[in-house]
Amino acid sequence: MKGVKRVCSECGVENEPREVTLHLERNGIQVEVVGVPAMVCPCCGQEYIAAPVSREVLKVAEQLAEGLEATRSMFARAPAEPPSFRHIVLALA
Ligand SMILES: [Zn+2]
Repeated sequence: MKGVKRVCSECGVENEPREVTLHLERNGIQVEVVGVPAMVCPCCGQEYIAAPVSREVLKVAEQLAEGLEATRSMFARAPAEPPSFRHIVLALA
């Protein structure tokens, strides 16, 4: 992920504001974050995301994965089957 730039550093073309989807993995859990504001190069598709935004996205993804791990270990001690989901989609409003 790169910081926000008005112009693509690869092509020199002006970037466009768009919403992108980020795919992250924490502790073997896929976290998909939908609707992340970014600047995207219309030429090569390079995504530029503001540092505070990517920091926030990483933090939320980490908390989600940690929460899921805690839930799993709770289930592991109970006779019930642990939750089997491995993929979380997080949509930003
Ligand atoms: Zn480009």
